[in-house]
Amino acid sequence: MKRIHHFINGQPTPGTGDRLGDVFNPATGQVQAQVALASAADVEAAVSAAQAAFPAWAATTPLNRARVLFKFKELLEAHADEIAACITSEHGKVLADARGELTRGLEVVEFACGAPHLLKGEHSMNVGRDVDSYTEYAPLGVVAGITPFNFPCMVPMWMFPVALACGNTFVLKPSERDPGTPMILARLLKEAGLPDGVFNVVHGDKVAVDALLDDPRVQAVSFVGSTPIAEYLYARGCANGKRVQALGGAKNHMVVLPDADLDGAANALLGAGYGSAGERCMAISVAVCVGDATADALVAKLKPMVGALRIGPGDQGDPDMGPLVTGAHRDKVRGYVDDGVAEGATLVVDGRGLRVAGADAGFFLGGCLFDHITPAMRIYREEIFGPVLCVVRVPDFEAALALVNAHEYGNGTAVFTRDGDAARQFAHRVQAGMVGINVPIPVPMAFHSFGGWKRSLFGPLHVHGPDGIRFYTRLKTVTARWPTGVRAQAEFTMPTMK
Ligand code: NAD
Repeated sequence: MKRIHHFINGQPTPGTGDRLGDVFNPATGQVQAQVALASAADVEAAVSAAQAAFPAWAATTPLNRARVLFKFKELLEAHADEIAACITSEHGKVLADARGELTRGLEVVEFACGAPHLLKGEHSMNVGRDVDSYTEYAPLGVVAGITPFNFPCMVPMWMFPVALACGNTFVLKPSERDPGTPMILARLLKEAGLPDGVFNVVHGDKVAVDALLDDPRVQAVSFVGSTPIAEYLYARGCANGKRVQALGGAKNHMVVLPDADLDGAANALLGAGYGSAGERCMAISVAVCVGDATADALVAKLKPMVGALRIGPGDQGDPDMGPLVTGAHRDKVRGYVDDGVAEGATLVVDGRGLRVAGADAGFFLGGCLFDHITPAMRIYREEIFGPVLCVVRVPDFEAALALVNAHEYGNGTAVFTRDGDAARQFAHRVQAGMVGINVPIPVPMAFHSFGGWKRSLFGPLHVHGPDGIRFYTRLKTVTARWPTGVRAQAEFTMPTMK
């Protein structure tokens, strides 16, 4: 059985813990590897390596740090096939989507390559007579990233390229469900010339996470995952004096107004609802149709499309959708579909009976489409994280907006319309961190920042882009006066502009 180790101080390391986690191939249902689950001592070793590497890396010029990242970008491109194959074999998403995930991560590396520019401070001449002020962005020290299963490549790369560019050292605790890809990234960073100890990977679960949260040497923690864990982690990290950004779950609504291009809206919903089997924090899981006529027409278009989704192993043929990540998760999603039926929603397309020829033991679930969902139903209130799209009917624009704003999550949302004023009103008044206008999945590019509102994000700063630079640095403002001779005398009153 293949064994996946930690990566500490530049070396794959088996660790001291005796606990192991199973890593499945979701398309076959078989265990393909076992991953070491870190003990507190393993985390301690990784943080020690990162702490030891910090002074030299912080003293490396931003230009030279960026040069390592430029080389890393080249290596990512050269190893794209290997990375995509690893993502697909452990996560299950189709190969083209795995490549897309790599591209979105790579764009953050490209952003971080601008470190010399991004770390430039501000300068004010003569804030007082012959007194100048300037700002510096200083790295924090050892920072940690804790990431979810659904983007094993992209989400770590939302974090560490920016953190490293700013001069920090990093300990990554990726999802134990698909731990292979972060090990490739660690290997390539070393090959790109990153000094040992600057980037470390510890695999594991709550034991590893708690050890990171409680280690006083860890200055900041970035987290992406489900809301209950995000909230827990934010509270414990902050109580321990750390800087924390914790991105949580989502229930993204797409509002379809009666004047929308309904073919466009149906296509958008298909991709945004069922791509990556719905295991995306920016997936659209609720379609809010304004007016029964809009809902009837949209459901009529979607029904055959959802029924015709091509579902199979992500590395064979060209399927639209692969399996879910584990059997347990597939069963949980299926349980939500059972619940929706029991609560009286109309199941327009039932994917529960799907059989994939030759892959009977894979964790597959067919696309499901619900109509006549109400806000009281569990399938509306909770994040399902699977290939299940729910249609809610509302009478008008204001009711649509009120519905979106009343939900506890506020990650992404979208409006489909041809009316510029309605779109503008929606974008301005909706309570969500990322808004699409005729764009179903409005993920900000690497040079903007990604994050939600409400219970989709704990902490003030989003990830990557300008917020990423702010999160991974401390601001210092220097105020300087140089005497030009023996003329200064002690001042006993507050200085004023003279
Ligand atoms: P998860 O919360 O189960 O796990 C995330 C990380 O937390 C993993 O590294 C895991 O090992 C760790 N963890 C799990 N239980 C823990 C515990 N009790 N104590 C401490 N650490 C623990 O999330 P997941 O199932 O891997 O990922 C899916 C979730 O992530 C969904 O809710 C999805 O919406 C969310 N997500 C959000 C975003 C975003 O940008 N907001 C992006 C991707 C995924």
